[in-house]
Amino acid sequence: GGRDRELDIRGLTTRYGPVTALDGVSVLARPGEVTAVLGANGAGKTTLLRTVSGLVKGSDGAVLLGGRDLAGAPAETIARAGVAHVPEGRGVITELTVEENLRLGELLGSARRGKADKNERLASVYGMFPPLAQRRRQVANSLSGGERQMLVIGRALLSEPEVLLLDEPSLGLAPRVVAQIFGLIRDLVDRERITVLLVEQNARSALSIADTGFVLNLGRVVASDDAEALAADAELRHAYLGF
Ligand code: ATP
Repeated sequence: GGRDRELDIRGLTTRYGPVTALDGVSVLARPGEVTAVLGANGAGKTTLLRTVSGLVKGSDGAVLLGGRDLAGAPAETIARAGVAHVPEGRGVITELTVEENLRLGELLGSARRGKADKNERLASVYGMFPPLAQRRRQVANSLSGGERQMLVIGRALLSEPEVLLLDEPSLGLAPRVVAQIFGLIRDLVDRERITVLLVEQNARSALSIADTGFVLNLGRVVASDDAEALAADAELRHAYLGF
């Protein structure tokens, strides 16, 4: 249900030894919306996603999913609670075929479905990303950058996430491919009403599909507003968003 999918991050603090990468970060991401997390290199964006998904341990704060606090839980528990993390840099297994890579996604998540449902889910991912359907028996090594990005997002969708964490899906892609991938993300959210937290350095593109945005600088939230309002703020754009 809708309320179960709200991701409410409160006062999250994460340190790497002496470095405080996140310093009391609060971000609210609602179901059926794309929430952008923006900011320069080193702002803490990747650390935010890694802390939410349990890959690194925060030292303080809460990660509430539908009211349940997942902060400090093992990554596997968080994945089974419905949080899928697509890390930066793709992470396809290049020796496996497209379909084998997609099937790996079924191993994560809630695993509550039967085989017929899984096949239906796979078919819907192919429907969403036709280039993957055409290349289902090809090894992933042969895919373009945009197709690889579709593959890792498709793999995450096969775990039937309530919350999708996307780390820089535009990285290394041509502008036209970025527009295509972002359009697919928007369609997905509108159709399935999942919660998407979209980390991007490409602030202009991210805000064009986002509902709300949070701007990080040196581990702190320095601005948050409707995506349109952020994009219209010339000072903020100049200081933090690079466009
Ligand atoms: P980028 O866009 O460059 O990935 P980011 O906003 O995602 O930047 P993070 O990668 O979260 O930022 O890094 C936040 C801070 O934490 C930086 O100062 C970074 O150097 C530091 N940091 C990140 N990972 C580690 C680590 N494993 N060990 C020590 N410091 C780290």
